[in-house]
Amino acid sequence: MLDDAIKEQLKSYLEKLQRPIELVASLDDSAKAQEMRGLLTDIAALSDKISLRENGDAARRPSFAIGLPGEAPRIHFAGLPLGHEFTSLVLALLQTGGHPPKLEPALIEQIKNLSGRFQVEAFISLSCHNCPDVVQAFNLMAVLNPGVSCTMIDGALFQDEVNSRQIMAVPIVYLNGAEFGQGRMTVEEILAKLDTGAAARAAEELGKKAPFDVLVVGGGPAGAAAAIYAARKGIRTGVLAERFGGQVLDTLSIENFISVKETEGPKLAAALEQHVKHYGVDVMTLQRATKLTPGELVEVHLESGAILKSKTVILATGARWREMNVPGEKEYKAKGICFCPHCDGPLFKGKRVAMIGGGNSSVEAAIDLAGIVGHVTLFHRRDTLRADAVLQNKLNSLPNVSVIKPARIIEVTGDGEKVNGIAYQDLVSNEIKRLELEGIFVQIGLLPNTEWLQGALELSPSGEIVIDAKGHTSLPGVFAAGDCTITPYKQIIIAMGSGATASLSAFDYLVRS
Ligand code: NAP
Repeated sequence: MLDDAIKEQLKSYLEKLQRPIELVASLDDSAKAQEMRGLLTDIAALSDKISLRENGDAARRPSFAIGLPGEAPRIHFAGLPLGHEFTSLVLALLQTGGHPPKLEPALIEQIKNLSGRFQVEAFISLSCHNCPDVVQAFNLMAVLNPGVSCTMIDGALFQDEVNSRQIMAVPIVYLNGAEFGQGRMTVEEILAKLDTGAAARAAEELGKKAPFDVLVVGGGPAGAAAAIYAARKGIRTGVLAERFGGQVLDTLSIENFISVKETEGPKLAAALEQHVKHYGVDVMTLQRATKLTPGELVEVHLESGAILKSKTVILATGARWREMNVPGEKEYKAKGICFCPHCDGPLFKGKRVAMIGGGNSSVEAAIDLAGIVGHVTLFHRRDTLRADAVLQNKLNSLPNVSVIKPARIIEVTGDGEKVNGIAYQDLVSNEIKRLELEGIFVQIGLLPNTEWLQGALELSPSGEIVIDAKGHTSLPGVFAAGDCTITPYKQIIIAMGSGATASLSAFDYLVRS
């Protein structure tokens, strides 16, 4: 099942096991069960600390669990954890075997102190790059707290369950049978939801912090670069972010980050965070800024009620996916309206989907989806696509793709539970038409995360922060960088460069004032 190179690598990881662990398989006669047996047999052969038994009693088959001999296992995999989930499998083996997790001691304590029973079902797809974080977070909680159990469920394998629960986006998590959350989530975010007193405690701690020299708002590439440049000057630097990594977390393959031939978003995001923390920057995640007040010390007000003060502030709040703003879109979000083709594409295997947009993102995603779904119809509002010619040629060569342009999307329709079609105006004939389909992927560019700054400083008509070549905004002591600004070409490397520029300008401001 596993090739020799992977076996060799896994064997060396498994040398870190500190105690015996047990794999418990619940198989059936399917071909997938044979594959699973092959995988488990391969793993068990790699370490004398791993045993395998095939008399599991799980209802979902084929599946397997990882636990300690003599104890009911708490980590379950309903599906083969290959693809993006292979790391989840390796971590589950190591952590169950006593290898210490890489997590701050305070969070480990918080997990151990959670009381109650938490039965987690995490639906994923193997091509989803956001899913492993969720699975790994809950698996780790299951290792640390006997009240927690987690089952990863491959939606492509358990299609009946996906259909009966009307799941149309992954990752999606059910806690004790009820929907808990959808999308990427970190251990911190999960704990904040489960441990209701945690947010108030965190706000109280934040409110006590001494003023910063540089406070960066945003933890994407621009914010990370700004923080590193500031911290290297030896000044008191903080980063405030909802989550570290920003949009990079939602990007799968990155091939234009100069000097790195190929990487993946989550990998780059983790590297950014490590680099920032290496300089002792005060990183404050799970925080949302709501107001900026200028002054000798600039104040950043947080949703939690805390107020942070700093001599300079660098705004690097990035951007988010633009929505179509048509009736039905909000109602059917995650019920057929999707923004992550890599994550949700496999849930539409063999079905009919639409792709909205004419840029590189939409055309690239339409090409990828065509390999999974039954048919893709790409809708664009103009008569020429904006995407690169090489992508357009590929798109046009695919037999199961059609392009409708110019067309204006009017409405997303559904049956109350999920999407069942799209209404559009053909801009040549002006006729209103309707197409029946099961999914709609929207890739129409970005919106800056600057609503909270309205009235505080100068924004462009499209809401981007107006800056000069050195990253100065219209407010003294406040700088900005990256996708939330008027900087053209929203690219990772450009965001990082502008973060560095803003940081050097902030330092210059501190020196002069
Ligand atoms: P984009 O290039 O800005 O394209 C957005 C598309 O959505 C445009 O075709 C736009 O139409 C359309 N659109 C905007 N608002 C709309 C609305 N309300 N309703 C319907 N359609 C709407 O964005 P992107 O494709 O996400 O790409 C962002 C950047 O990343 C670009 O610089 C792109 O080149 C780059 N990128 C590169 C690659 C690659 O090199 N392989 C892959 C992905 C992205 P109009 O054309 O009418 O404006």
